[in-house]
This record gives sequence, structure tokens and C-alpha cells, in this order.
Amino acid sequence: MMMNSDRQITEWVEQTPFVDTHEHLIEESLRLSGALHERLPCDDWAYLFNKYVHDDLLIAGMPAAELRRFLGRDLSSEAKYRLVAPYWDRVRHTGYAQALRHTFRGLYGEDDLTAESVSRIAEKYRETIRPGFYAAILHRANIESCQVNSIPHIFAETEQPALLAQDIDITYFSRCSAADFVRVETETGKRPTTLEEWLDIIDFYFATYGPRAVAVKCWIAYSRALDFAPVAKAHASQLFVHNVGKVRGAYPLGSEDLKALQDFLFRYCVAKAGDWDLPVKLHTGYLAGRSVMQLGRIRDNAADLCRLLQDFPATRFVLMHIGYPYQDEFTALAKHYPNAAIDMCWAWIINPAASVRFLKEFLLAVPDGKIFTFGGDYVAVEPIYGHACVARRGIAQALSELVAEGWIAREETLDLIERIMRGNAHRFFPRASCASIRDKTAGQQ
Ligand SMILES: [Zn+2]
Repeated sequence: MMMNSDRQITEWVEQTPFVDTHEHLIEESLRLSGALHERLPCDDWAYLFNKYVHDDLLIAGMPAAELRRFLGRDLSSEAKYRLVAPYWDRVRHTGYAQALRHTFRGLYGEDDLTAESVSRIAEKYRETIRPGFYAAILHRANIESCQVNSIPHIFAETEQPALLAQDIDITYFSRCSAADFVRVETETGKRPTTLEEWLDIIDFYFATYGPRAVAVKCWIAYSRALDFAPVAKAHASQLFVHNVGKVRGAYPLGSEDLKALQDFLFRYCVAKAGDWDLPVKLHTGYLAGRSVMQLGRIRDNAADLCRLLQDFPATRFVLMHIGYPYQDEFTALAKHYPNAAIDMCWAWIINPAASVRFLKEFLLAVPDGKIFTFGGDYVAVEPIYGHACVARRGIAQALSELVAEGWIAREETLDLIERIMRGNAHRFFPRASCASIRDKTAGQQ
């Protein structure tokens, strides 16, 4: 597989199933229908670029209008290839593109996207989409179970609960944007006007979905710092009334007031998650997209989290994406706080080499039960396969280097591999562990 990794360690990593702790998969039935949807803008091979290679294409200079046509439904495969080819050539070595190339190779048997292979890739994309293809692809990627944060839902009532364990998304409860009120009204039919009514809705979600959820997830770091301070309920009640006015276009709420209201609501949700013994998964570090990231704010993510980790010592926090590019600070948090674990989801393809360095340093600094090493972070199932290839390669390299450098004995690595790829997740997320793709698909291959 690779020159710089120990063959035995590489084999062990290949044979060990991953527990996949973070995806945004839409329902398989939506993929099978091919229907136009916000999360399914096109239904051909270009869809696999939607997350995340399309960001690299834009950064490489592809005009946004061309990218929209590439990801739309009006062009033939050949026309799409002509649009993307010059930019594909410039991004092919990034982690995002490497994951996609592993996908083309592993699922479609094609080494690369070229003028010659594009029609075969188009055909294989279509052939792959059959009832049961989610389980089949996850099985081929040697992934035994999967946890999903369904972006368009607060909690998704999935058709495949044994395959796709679900998070409750508390972003919608704590951010207080106009879109969040619309989301809650769409799902519950309710238009709360007081804080008490809003808290009742939060309680309802936990009571209804808490027993079936695997964790709660929050991606509020896309819009604010993670410095959640305690706020008195009476103050939050006043602010809520003003904010409800604001989203209906009446009373503007200043940014300090909005922060205080969000602080109260977020901490309320964290306390609820604690009551239900649900781990709290937080987006930290790098932001997807382009031309929006406030790196100064993100640089402070780890420092900002100290207060939360101290104030909720009994709640288990999962700090996602290693806080890249500030992963050293996240190693320090996991080393210092008993209730902080780190998830390498997405990190392997943001920066594969940095992720190898991170894993090596983490294992020499932090007890090894506090890390989860894979989450594809995709909306489509196919590229999870390629991302898992990149992650396995990185894990094998990190452990091989630790052995070669004399830090860890080779005979200790098999147990370590089992823990960091699956065992830690089974212990940490016991509610997801009843699902097993391997059992479901046993006998299919
Ligand atoms: Zn994500």
C-alpha cells in the first residue's frame, strides 16, 4: 500500500472496521428518487464533487457561475468534464480530491477522472445507486456503524435507524436566527413568543428523541465564538421577547444581547444533554466554504471552551475536526479535561499530513481512550469510501512512524488500532453500538 508504513500495521488497520462518528447523509430514498433537492442539486457523478472538492475548485480559480453549471442538471457529462478539467488538474493532490480519487478507484474501478474515463464513471455512478447501496458502500469501506447529523432536520426520523444513528442538532435551539424559528415552526407547528415556550419545545425534542439519539451536535461555531458565559434566566427571557420581535422585523437585538441569549440557550441545551446522558459534539476549527472564515475567532476556540468544560464536568464533550489548524491546543484540552474527547472527523481530508502529525502527538500525550479517528462528514455516501482510505493510510503511517521511532512497540499497536478505530466509539456512544452494518450485510458479499 505505501513505502513508509509497516506492512503488518497496515494490514491490521485495513482489517479493523471503523465506527464512523460523523456524517451528514441524506436519506437513501432521496438518492434513489434522484429528485431535485437542496441537498441533491444534481444526480450524476458531479454530485460527488459537491462536498468538498467544489471548495477547492473555487479556490483554484473556477468561476462560481461555471461551478453552478457543473453542479446543476442541465449539462451532459462530457460538457461537465470540459468545465472541470482545468481545475481538477490543479486540485488533484489535496485531501478532498485524493478521497474522491480513492472513491473512483475503489467503487468504480477507475484510476482517475479523464476525458476517456468520464463516460464510464457516469455510467458506474448510475449503476451504483440501487436499493441497499448505503449499507453496501459502508460495508465495502469496512465501516461497521455510522452516526448522522442531518443538516435539514433537528432530528431525522431515518428509514434505516439500525444503519444511521442520529444526532439531535441543538444549533437550531441556541442560535436564534430567523431560519431557526422557521425550522422549528415547520417541524412543530409552533411559534413561540416567550422563552418558556421555547424551552418547552427544547424539552419536547429531548423527551421525544433523546432516547433514540446517539448524541447532540452543534455547529454554532460557524457564526460565533465558543465563549458561552452563564446568563440569568430573567435576563434571557427579556432578550428572547426582543429577539422574537427582531426576527419578525420589529426590534433589533444588538450583538451583545444576541450573544447573551445564545449563551443561555446553548447552556440550557448542554444541561439537557447531560440529563439524557448524551455526548455533546461541537464543531471546532476550520470552516467549510470560502471567503467567510474569521481565523482570529477560530484561533480562540480551544481557549474559549475551557469555561464550558469546567462548568459541565459531568457532560462528555466531543471536539470535532481536531480544531484544525490549532490542533495542538486541542491535544492540550483533551490531556487536561477528563470530559473532552477529540474527533478526527473531516480532518484527514482537510490536511492529511497534519492529521498524521496530530495523531502521533496525541497518542504520546493523551490517554488513548479519548480519540475517535473517523467521520467522513459527507452528504453523499460514495466519498465516505475514499475518505476512509485516506484515514486508514494516515493511521497506518502515524503508528508505523511511532514504532519505527521507538515510541511504541509493534505488538502493542493491534490493541491500540482496535481502540482508536472502533472500541473507543463503542464505549463512548453505547446507543449507536446496537447498529452494525457488518451484521446487516453479512452474506451479501
Ligand atoms: Zn459535519
